[in-house]
Amino acid sequence: MDHSDLLKRTADLALEFLDGLPERRVGQATSVDELRAALGGPLPERGEDAGRVIEHLARAADPGLIGMAGPRYFGFVIGGHVPASLAADWLTSAWDQNATLYATSPANSVVEEATAGWLLEVLGLPAMASVGFTTGCSMANFTALAAARHAVLARQGWDVETDGLFGAPAIDVVIGDEAHATILSALQMLGLGRERVKRVATDGQGRMVPAALREILASASGPLIVCAQAGNVNTGAFDPLEEIVPLVRERGGWLHVDGAFGLWAGAVPALAHLVRGAAAADSWATDAHKWLNVPYDSGIVIVAHPEPHRAAMTISAAYLAQTEGRERDPFDWVPEFSRRARGFTVWAALRSLGRSGIAGLVERCCALARRFADRLREESGVEVLNDVVLNQVLVRFQASDALTREVIARVQADGTCWLGGTTWQGKAAMRISVSNWSTAEADVDASAAAILRAFRAARA
Ligand SMILES: *Cc1c(COP(=O)(O)O)cnc(C)c1O
Repeated sequence: MDHSDLLKRTADLALEFLDGLPERRVGQATSVDELRAALGGPLPERGEDAGRVIEHLARAADPGLIGMAGPRYFGFVIGGHVPASLAADWLTSAWDQNATLYATSPANSVVEEATAGWLLEVLGLPAMASVGFTTGCSMANFTALAAARHAVLARQGWDVETDGLFGAPAIDVVIGDEAHATILSALQMLGLGRERVKRVATDGQGRMVPAALREILASASGPLIVCAQAGNVNTGAFDPLEEIVPLVRERGGWLHVDGAFGLWAGAVPALAHLVRGAAAADSWATDAHKWLNVPYDSGIVIVAHPEPHRAAMTISAAYLAQTEGRERDPFDWVPEFSRRARGFTVWAALRSLGRSGIAGLVERCCALARRFADRLREESGVEVLNDVVLNQVLVRFQASDALTREVIARVQADGTCWLGGTTWQGKAAMRISVSNWSTAEADVDASAAAILRAFRAARA
């Protein structure tokens, strides 16, 4: 098949998948053995025709694809892709730009620059902050905490990038008891240790308790990093940032905010109270592939102080034609050297939605989450465990761990929608996350009906 026919046929295959999404079974429709048989086997000695390779891939992968880009996937916190962003992703692959330097892709460099400015404006963060485009919020947390590590040690006269951590002043790292697992993985990779952190008690919604933070800070004497959270992955709750900021400031610490999806509340006037105080932090991590509905993978790190951000990430070598500060070299702001030109998809999503479209997307998901909660709690025996302040709903059935898990398994087997479970403060719960731009009221109603059907069947 020639190049042009191949790409046109591939576009048709992609469209077939996308057109089928609203009707498709949301969960997987096959087994690991079937997938291995269809996709594994020995590497062929001689190459196959590209058209046949793609037909094979599309056919064989299909039953193992999850409908997570569609309107009734409510597992984890997963967005879909707004059309302009998907189209930009196709172009990104066709252009195949290496996003290391301005010199390797001037267009990407300038697009990242423009996109960074729009993001800061939409999220209500300081205009002078530096921005990096990472694989996701995990790497955004990692990058921000590397900048934090640099800054708090530099104030003690220690250059951590040059001399490492051996012999360095001990850093006090303080996190909320409900910090996301990727904060811990960032700490483990940065040599700050997963277990040597001080954990601040949280309340019934998973929010840091300011009095508990105050107490911990009173006993901490070294260089200080505090990690707060905007948007708990189970409840959607926000740490009280407005109260946390002055406590960290008083101690001269660095405040990082993990806002993988919650930071987007800042784009909506009616929700901005949830992130009040966030703009006074030192660094933030968020995702574009969750609530902004950009295709994977796409995260964003933002640092209020460009100097430590760059110092923690930059690489120098004689053959790198770095620009003298006038143009943006994207590798200054992320851990990777060569990488995909990730700015294009975010640029396209922001531009196609506009300020009001972004706010509308976030607000709509929150309204749909409330609708979900209302539909479900109409049934006796169904309890919503959290205050539905954002897009997350935690549901428990008949006050029973076993029954709750049974309902989740039945919903997953039914295929109308997909959602998972969690343990919230010792109790099994169903997690619902509404994060997709294309989810409509009818999807929520059909999914709530499927959940209640599963509940009645499990109870019987
Ligand atoms: C999803 C999430 C992360 C990790 O983000 P990835 O994009 O999966 O790397 C970190 N923190 C919170 C609060 C999250 O919800």
